Amino acid sequence: MTNENKLREKIVEFGRSIFERGLTAGSSGNISVRLDDGWLLTPTNACLGNLDPARLAKLDWQGRSISGDAPSKEAFLHRSMYEERRGAGAIVHLHSTHSAAVSCMEGLDHADCLPPLTAYYAMRIGTLPLLPYFAPGDAALAEAVGRSAARHHAVLLANHGPVVSGTSLAAAADAIEELEATAKLWLIVRREEVRLLDAAALADIARRFPG
Ligand SMILES: [Zn+2]
Repeated sequence: MTNENKLREKIVEFGRSIFERGLTAGSSGNISVRLDDGWLLTPTNACLGNLDPARLAKLDWQGRSISGDAPSKEAFLHRSMYEERRGAGAIVHLHSTHSAAVSCMEGLDHADCLPPLTAYYAMRIGTLPLLPYFAPGDAALAEAVGRSAARHHAVLLANHGPVVSGTSLAAAADAIEELEATAKLWLIVRREEVRLLDAAALADIARRFPG
């Protein structure tokens, strides 16, 4: 199997896995991977639980279709993140319930909207900027994602959901799932007296797990 075909199978497998676990509903969310000669993206109006590897949209870096079905209408989110993050091998965008719930909350710190509850969140996400709300398809959203993506591999879109990149699909998948789990945890404990990881613990994690 060629490398591209392996990546196509991985997208289908991950899509089915997150659909079956309730992390994506209907035809929301999209998954992309970088190839040597362009990139693959899940098609528009496709249910991630039931993707066909041969029909994934293949695009060039101008966003033009090379083959497959029409790409997700959120292709521009992925493209602006890849442009700023040359090391990104894959990007996952979800409307997963708990992250989307946090994205609707008032009073968040826009520079870093989830607190450091666990070491794995600190390692896999770290800092999570909250970008303002934009209507679907608004070009200003792509610009905002591009501006943040230069410094952050994960962002949360207000009243919408997270966009997370990784060096591989497995890395992006792990990170967005950690983000969703932490959003759920935060919704459970935020009215309790919470002990966060302090600056010394975060510095220790950064030292043990650089990059
Ligand atoms: Zn979306």
